[in-house]
This record gives sequence, structure tokens and C-alpha cells, in this order.
Amino acid sequence: MKIHEYQGKEILRKFGVATPRGKACFSVDEAVKAAEELGAQLATKVWVVKAQIHAGGRGKGGGVKVAKSLDEVRSYAGQILGMQLKTHQTGPEGQKVRRLLVEEGADIKKELYVGMVVDRVTQLVCLMASSEGGMDIEEVAAHTPEKIHKVFIDPATGLKDAEADDVARKIGVPEASVSQARGVLQGLYKAFWETDASLAEINPLILTGDGRVVALDAKMNFDANALFRHEDIVAMRDLDEEDPAEVAASKFDLSYISLDGNIGCLVNGAGLAMATMDTIKLFGAEPANFLDVGGGATTEKVTEAFKLMLANDKVKGILVNIFGGIMKCDTIATGVVAAAREVHLSVPLVVRMRGTNEDIGKQILKDSGLPIISASDMADAAQKIVAAVSGK
Ligand code: ADP
Ligand code: MG
Repeated sequence: MKIHEYQGKEILRKFGVATPRGKACFSVDEAVKAAEELGAQLATKVWVVKAQIHAGGRGKGGGVKVAKSLDEVRSYAGQILGMQLKTHQTGPEGQKVRRLLVEEGADIKKELYVGMVVDRVTQLVCLMASSEGGMDIEEVAAHTPEKIHKVFIDPATGLKDAEADDVARKIGVPEASVSQARGVLQGLYKAFWETDASLAEINPLILTGDGRVVALDAKMNFDANALFRHEDIVAMRDLDEEDPAEVAASKFDLSYISLDGNIGCLVNGAGLAMATMDTIKLFGAEPANFLDVGGGATTEKVTEAFKLMLANDKVKGILVNIFGGIMKCDTIATGVVAAAREVHLSVPLVVRMRGTNEDIGKQILKDSGLPIISASDMADAAQKIVAAVSGK
């Protein structure tokens, strides 16, 4: 699960990381009022108006503007709110801006990068840090990876003082600010660990003119499997930022991911679902989604799964691939028939099922009178659905 920058900063502040003062706003008037309130405390009258969407690259896309007067705050807030912001992470259609962060302008002397992810190979949290922070970190990673320093953190000790200080020096933090940088890095690690994050990134982490170390941006993603123990984080979820089909799927406990192709896939088991998508690709077509109905799929769940796939008008055919183990083939067959009737299925449907009660399942499909194309194995199923959608 992802959250907005302003929410990430709220979390970081709780762990002692310094951020600019700021306020989340939902309208232009609110933005001006927030700037006024902040202004009373500002030495220099500089504010930054920032689009809040679940994607990075906002600065380059025109979603981050420096304002030098309240009039400018008003005009930038008006420009950014409601805009369709396109960045390298939103895709070509962009993302509509519904929230802003108005914060104090910082005196940036140097922009650094720090981030944390779980490294699958070592099974440790990995701290990445670079002197080359700001808006081009992807370029740094691609062309000068030696400028990114890594520390693999031992969970028994956490990020040690010496490790944090060493990284801080490597990324060019001056001696007088090293202890502050240590606080930021250790705070980031604690925040990451205690919230069950899968990613936490501060880009840029800045050095200010007066030697302070401040988080100017904050990005955090969380492990969905751990959200049950973080009510406060779940409350930060913004459904406007998520794919509507994936939100609908999560209500029925279906694992669903939207993709770009035209063959809908309904499969039980994540591994089989991945293999099914590979097989479709092998025969020259593209899947429209990943969908795992899970082990205990009911007729209702299968019907919802069909509705989800068919709500996508790119879908020109559906492949159902079931391995009956705990799940019995006749249960799925009953679900498929009921679903196909309820949604008035109008695209070709290929079903391949093997395993427990296979014969009963196949008979149910046959007796239904529906134009279901039956397949014997995965290659046969993929070839049949690819042929059907391409009109062969
Ligand atoms: P994104 O990563 O989505 O482009 P950032 O929050 O990193 O958005 O902002 C982009 C750039 O805007 C930063 O690298 C920084 O140079 C500038 N910026 C962001 N917030 C502030 C701020 N409070 N004061 C001054 N400059 C800022
Ligand atoms: Mg950034």
C-alpha cells in the first residue's frame, strides 16, 4: 500500500526526522490559508506548493512550484489542483491531483538521496544513500551505480552509529552535521521497521544553508500482509489513487492486477496464474490481468471475478485455468456457468480444468449449453483462446 508525501512526512516526524513545516490542503482557499498561517513563522517568505499523488517525478511534471507571495500560492494551487499530472511513474494518462501540500520553502545547499528496501537475496533491510540526490536518482543508478552506497542492516542491532556515520560521510555530509544525519538514518530505519514498510525513501534529503539535515520529500510503501496490525496506516489509504478494478477485487478477497493485454485470466493459485500468463505470451498474445481466485473460491467469488474482467473493455476473451486440488472442479464449473449466465457472457470462454472431480466439472460445462470451449492442457487452452480473440 502506498501513501502520500505529507503522510510519509507525518510518520517520519514521529521518528525524529526533521521535515519542513507544512499542511495538506484540498482546495485553493485552504492552500492560501495554510500559507498565511505558515508565513507568520517564516523568516523568508517562500512557500512550496506540491501536488500529492502516489507517484514520483512530480517536480519535473510541473507538480512542485516555489511561490514567493500569497498571490503566487493562490495561482499555483489553482494550477496544480485538478490537473492531470503526468510523470514517468504515472503512465501517459497521468493522475488527477486532488490534494496539495503547502510547506515552507527550504534553503537547499545540497540534495542527497537516502532510501530503504527489503533486499530479497540477503533477506535484510538495505539502506541506499547517495550524494547525488534530487530528481535524477534513476539516472545515477543506471549510469554511475558506484555513487550509491549500500548498508545491509542486521535486524539484531538495527542501524549502528558507526554505520550511519560512515554512510553520512560517504555522501558528503560535513562533519558538523554528521550526528544529525545519523539521527535521520536511524529514524528512517526505525520508521521502516516499525511500520512494516517495503520501501521508504527521502529524495531529496537536504543540507540547509545553516547545516541542518531535512527530509524534503518522503515516499513510503507498506507490506499489505502486515496492514492488519497498522490501523493508523490503513486509515491513510487513498482509494482515488488506486486502480478501481483492484480496489473492487480486494473487497472480494481476489488477488487481481490490471495489465495491458486483451485476454482475461481466471486461475486458482498465484503460481498457476503466472504460468498461465506466460503461456498466453508464448502463443503471441497478452493477458489483460493477473487473477488468483484463491483456494476457497465460491460461486459468488467466481461471478465477481467475471464481472471484474468484463468491466475492462479491452477484454476480448477469457481463459479459465483450474487445478482441482482442495478446490473441486465441479465447484468451479458451477461457478463459471452461473457467472457466465449472470453477466451474459459475450466473449469467447476457454476452460481448462484438471484434478479432483474433473469429469463431473466437464459434464456441468457441457450440460450448460453455453458456448464454452473446452481445452485439454495449458498449451491447448492458450492456443484456443489466442485463436478465438484473433478471430481465427
Ligand atoms: P518529486 O520527487 O515527486 O519530484 P520532490 O518533493 O522531491 O518531488 O520535489 C522536487 C524538487 O522540488 C526537490 O528536489 C527540491 O529541489 C524541490 N522542493 C521540494 N520541496 C521543497 C521545499 N519545501 N523547499 C524548497 N524546495 C523544495
Ligand atoms: Mg522527490
